[in-house]
Amino acid sequence: MKEFRVCPTCGYGRGFHVSFSKGDPGFSILFICPECGSAFDLSIAEDRLQDIRPENRGRFRSYP
Ligand SMILES: [Zn+2]
Repeated sequence: MKEFRVCPTCGYGRGFHVSFSKGDPGFSILFICPECGSAFDLSIAEDRLQDIRPENRGRFRSYP
């Protein structure tokens, strides 16, 4: 696969939203189609994110 851009479910071709799901350790990265809502787990994990504290929900944060 050269590029994962087109939704296999509905054919939407402008890319995906990203969501993070708590795993062990770190977070799994999920790709969500903005057109139909299908979610795809490509087994990509991120271990640099920290748990998001309630006071910081909804804000953008940067991590070293
Ligand atoms: Zn779709």
